[in-house]
Amino acid sequence: MDKKVLIADQINEKGIDELKDVAEIVSNFTISKEELVKEIADYDAIIVRSRTKVTREVIEAADKLKIIARAGVGVDNVDVQAATERGIMVINAPESTSITVAEHTMGLILSLSRKISIADSSVKDGKWEKSRFMGIELNGKTLGVIGMGRIGSQVVTRSKAFGMETVVYDPYITEKSASELGVTVVDLETLLKESDVMTIHVPLTPETKHLISKPQFEIMKENAIIINCARGGIINEEDLYEALSNNRIRGAGLDVYEVEPPENSPLFTLDNVVLTPHIAASTSEAQRDAAIIVANEIKKVFQG
Ligand code: NAD
Repeated sequence: MDKKVLIADQINEKGIDELKDVAEIVSNFTISKEELVKEIADYDAIIVRSRTKVTREVIEAADKLKIIARAGVGVDNVDVQAATERGIMVINAPESTSITVAEHTMGLILSLSRKISIADSSVKDGKWEKSRFMGIELNGKTLGVIGMGRIGSQVVTRSKAFGMETVVYDPYITEKSASELGVTVVDLETLLKESDVMTIHVPLTPETKHLISKPQFEIMKENAIIINCARGGIINEEDLYEALSNNRIRGAGLDVYEVEPPENSPLFTLDNVVLTPHIAASTSEAQRDAAIIVANEIKKVFQG
């Protein structure tokens, strides 16, 4: 086999299996930055997850590299500009985690609507506080989806199984995809006023930075729940703290933060917030799918 692939971070075996018949595979999950610069010239493709940084220095030493593959969503650990300058393709697998993130979103919604995580702590503290944990049903409630791309659409599908109505804010969505999913497209203000549960699935851009701040919290329903499994910084955390501590809204579920990890955040003191450590995309199925998707892309390039 004349093609050689370096797997520099551990990926699911199924991805490696896909490549075995088209390339020689070298797995080195502890390769250092210096070793990578020295050895990269031997390879036609490299697969990384988060540990390995594919810097300009690495790319400039890569004499025959054709593809840099990130078996996951973001490509923050790859110098895409340097790769583009040398005509090297950078690929990733953004679709691999959509269902996984949508399921985590549903988990946070359920945890907040039924106060599951504080009820769990209470029982483990030896208490039996049934009246403290009165919940709300999701059936018949309105879900507001901010950003209806890959993940937002999966959340819509799942919310229908819970009997929820859906409104969507996404200025870039087509009429056709809205009607296919059976959702009503509204402006942001209408979504904030009408939704019982809101969930954010937009990228962090100058346009979406602090999209949800004090003026937006002020027009939400009193029992509103807001979820952010997209990127920290889309919700203004100071304003969120104020809204939650004044019981202006019912609760919030966050997987992402303005600063990660969020040290000594005042949010830690509140009962009506559920926090997870940026794990919305972390399932074995999503990792498997990411490995298979990038392996198939590499295969296609090798086979012309
Ligand atoms: P996507 O590109 O498929 O969808 C994003 C949607 O947002 C698009 O429909 C786009 O039209 C819309 N949008 C863009 N700007 C907007 C704006 N200003 N207002 C309203 N809508 C806007 O992306 P996706 O795969 O669904 O991912 C969504 C987000 O989830 C991304 O930011 C991604 O980084 C994040 N994410 C987080 C995790 C995690 O671990 N928590 C994992 C995967 C993805």
